[in-house]
Amino acid sequence: KQLTGNELRKLFLDFFAGKDHLVQASASLIPENDPSLLLIGAGMAPFKPFFTGKMKPPHLRIATSQKCVRTGDIENVGRTARHHTFFEMLGNFSFGDYFKKEAIAWAWEFLTEYLEMPKDKLWITIHTGDDEAFAIWHDDIRIPADRIIRMEENFWEIGPGPCGPCSEIHIDLGEDRGCGRPDCTVGCNCDRYLEIWNLVFTQFDRDEAGNYTPLAKKNIDTGAGLERIASVLQNKRSNFETDLLYPIIEYAAGIAGVTYGRSAKQDVSLKVIADHGRSMTVMIGDGVLPSNEGRGYVLRRILRRAVRHGRLLGIEKPFLTDIVDIVAKLFAQAYPDIHDKQEYIKKVIQLEEERFHNTLAQGIELLNRQIQELARTGETLLDGATAFKLYDTYGFPWELTEEILSEHNMMLDKQSFDQAMAGQRERARSARQDNGEKTVIPDLSGLVTESLCYNPEAEQAKLVLLLK
Ligand code: ATP
Ligand code: MG
Ligand code: MG
Ligand code: MG
Repeated sequence: KQLTGNELRKLFLDFFAGKDHLVQASASLIPENDPSLLLIGAGMAPFKPFFTGKMKPPHLRIATSQKCVRTGDIENVGRTARHHTFFEMLGNFSFGDYFKKEAIAWAWEFLTEYLEMPKDKLWITIHTGDDEAFAIWHDDIRIPADRIIRMEENFWEIGPGPCGPCSEIHIDLGEDRGCGRPDCTVGCNCDRYLEIWNLVFTQFDRDEAGNYTPLAKKNIDTGAGLERIASVLQNKRSNFETDLLYPIIEYAAGIAGVTYGRSAKQDVSLKVIADHGRSMTVMIGDGVLPSNEGRGYVLRRILRRAVRHGRLLGIEKPFLTDIVDIVAKLFAQAYPDIHDKQEYIKKVIQLEEERFHNTLAQGIELLNRQIQELARTGETLLDGATAFKLYDTYGFPWELTEEILSEHNMMLDKQSFDQAMAGQRERARSARQDNGEKTVIPDLSGLVTESLCYNPEAEQAKLVLLLK
């Protein structure tokens, strides 16, 4: 069935509203009262207290489309067809109400009846010991046994909190999308079997020490990637070609003067820019500001990585703020607050981009010289002092340095870099004691919206946005 991303999001939420779910707006990317998480990375994350019983949910069934950021997937962006740092997770949740039978039946109904996905292309994975899930898939839904795969790793958890065995739905996109290895099957890391939906049967609570306690009530937590389902429905070879992301690719290709689909390497850069452009826009909209630690560092790293990929494409001028306009338009229906904060978001990005632009070229030059020197002497390890200089003087997040090195099969001496960092912190501490730190805070006042003014996170982060 042919649907736009917006139509798909709405259809999902309407479907579950029809099954008596309360449809809630996405929570902020910044977790509330959850120090174990830097950023929300799953639909269930904002609902942890409902699962554990600490708080009473407004309704026993909820459905959302949740904004998610997974920094852990950053290296995959553009290299697989399916990974983003920012994506939207569609989810339905049961807090001690319905369980496996309904969760499985409804997921199947939505995919095969509402979205008209071909039944014989769908593959199921379950946890090795989950005979109950097997029986439902096999006897009720009538999936042949050879398309229900038992896997040890089908146990879902994200940090401490509610977790449990899970069952995933994958779609076989055909041989030509695969790696071609004879043992390629569901679970292979290539793009042939696309994981679209994870149904988690939340039965345990994991504590910080790694102990699992059975929960008083059994819950359901499901997560389906909006962009992935859109790619299937729109018959695209990757998430990036769906209407949710392609306008950003077109924009970036336009200013770089390149054509998407001509060079694999350039396509990676275009996809990185499209992905990171969405991430930075939504993160800033939710109150994150660039800094050298915590989520502010995640934002800084993502933004600077996008700038570097722009440069790889030959873009010499700042180009990121126009992406905010595109993203705000794409999200006008789903997240109208981004549109309201558009000018503010652009200002933050403009400051950070300019700042990095001024030093990026010199930093790249320094790094390239070092890479040549290493190559000449047959070495592969960049010393920590150089990486620290790139970080401190040229604003290179160390991960960026490491990534550039890896493109030349080289590595960063992380240990000696950490030592240089520790030395820097020590010097900064004693300097502060000597003369008291003087900080310059850029004036964002006219641009800061009401809600952001009262966001303590943003206020605090603003202090970190020093003009060094
Ligand atoms: P994968 O194995 O492809 O990395 P996952 O098993 O890590 O996915 P889950 O944690 O099960 O993903 O998340 C639930 C759903 O969210 C996935 O089935 C997928 O549709 C979607 N999803 C997960 N990670 C990403 C991502 N980085 N970008 C886009 N969609 C994602
Ligand atoms: Mg993953
Ligand atoms: Mg998976
Ligand atoms: Mg999964």
